[in-house]
Amino acid sequence: MYLEGVVKDVDSIRYMTPEEMEQRGVRVFTNTEITKVVPDKHEVEVLDHLTGKTRTESYDKLILSPGANPFILPVPGKELANIETMRGRQDTIDLKKHSVDPEIKNVVVVGGGYIGIEAAEAFAVAGKKVTVVDVITRPLGVYLDQAFTDILEKEMTDHGIQLAMEERVEKFIGEGKVEKVVTDKGEYAADLVVMSAGVRPNTAWLKDAVELYPNGLIKTDKFMRTSAEDVFAVGDATQIQYNPGNTEVNISLATNARRQGRYAVKNLEEAKAPFPGVQGSSALRVFDYKFASTGLNDQMADRLKIKTKSVLLDQATLMDFIPENMKERMLFKLVYDPESHVILGAQVMSKKDLTANINAISIAIQTKFTIEQLAYADFFFQPEFDTPWNLLNMAGLKALQQENEA
Ligand SMILES: Cc1cc2nc3c(=O)[nH]c(=O)nc-3n(C[C@H](O)[C@H](O)[C@H](O)COP(=O)(O)OP(=O)(O)OC[C@H]3O[C@@H](n4cnc5c(N)ncnc54)[C@H](O)[C@@H]3O)c2cc1C
Repeated sequence: MYLEGVVKDVDSIRYMTPEEMEQRGVRVFTNTEITKVVPDKHEVEVLDHLTGKTRTESYDKLILSPGANPFILPVPGKELANIETMRGRQDTIDLKKHSVDPEIKNVVVVGGGYIGIEAAEAFAVAGKKVTVVDVITRPLGVYLDQAFTDILEKEMTDHGIQLAMEERVEKFIGEGKVEKVVTDKGEYAADLVVMSAGVRPNTAWLKDAVELYPNGLIKTDKFMRTSAEDVFAVGDATQIQYNPGNTEVNISLATNARRQGRYAVKNLEEAKAPFPGVQGSSALRVFDYKFASTGLNDQMADRLKIKTKSVLLDQATLMDFIPENMKERMLFKLVYDPESHVILGAQVMSKKDLTANINAISIAIQTKFTIEQLAYADFFFQPEFDTPWNLLNMAGLKALQQENEA
């Protein structure tokens, strides 16, 4: 929102100031890095970036939330100027400067996930010629199935964004600054590259302190405990219980980190509150379209080798007699287990904001609601807001019909 100019002050984009945290009894040390954790001694080594001095501090309990770093593609030219990442305050300030720099005409975004598409839109709105390059077949293909991304692809190309899908970046070319991105299929002029090809856990410095998975994520149990006594870990550097797949995966979301943090605290003294898991619910706006998803989609079901069935609603948001200018098209997909009929996922998209429905389905997944229960769940009807059968009821009914006909 800051990149697009909706929020004007970068310093306002925060959850709480250090002073507000202090008022709540939290001592905050900014510009301070933990360089080493020594679990046997219950100590950490601390580097003060302002003074350059190091010191040792002790802890009774330690909660690690070191996050992740943007992945920089290891290709020739990656060190050229104007190849930027998009994570944190300084990146945001740098990207904002580029967005108003008339010298920056061509922008290549590497990675068509949430962050890349947000960057692509912001630079397209700023009047730049934007190209998105990704090895996968569809932008946002990790979050949405094809019926949804087909519409979004058109929306993006209609707004002048060029999509270079199924292309692998091979190198960046330029004299000091990046000038061109070369892929296995083409070349793209670039005064700026936004590198948004995923993240890697920021955990190399912890390898002697706690057990890590081969991909660097910190191993934790359902109480957020690591392999080291009295050391807990949460956030993007960990795996999380993923209820629809009944497995653990890494899903980098602030919502997950925040809930894990609360559960780490519940379990500090005694392991008594197992983490209830997540459905991976997320949402985004791309130009006029608002979408949200939760649980399994085609891509995730394939990855986890889970058999699913689904129904797709593609209809107007309101009834026939309502004037056209009050209605929008909407897409809603419900994913369920063909054996148990338990709901496993959903996606919604419209120019109208219907995203809150996905929170309802998230609860449905967590409580193992079935399509039978969803079909006849009690939802309101108000002709200005929805249809006599709420879209969630209709998706349940359509799934029931599909099963009765099966
Ligand atoms: C552009 C963007 C948009 C996003 N939008 C959303 C959204 O809309 N909704 C959503 O749910 N999620 C969103 N996310 C994801 C969300 O930001 C992350 O999932 C969340 O911040 C993870 O929290 P974390 O604590 O694990 O890591 P971080 O937020 O990365 O925090 C880690 C912190 O630890 C510090 N640190 C690391 N190592 C050390 C050390 N050795 N010593 C001291 N400090 C250290 C880092 O400097 C950093 O401040 C977005 C992410 C990006 C990049």
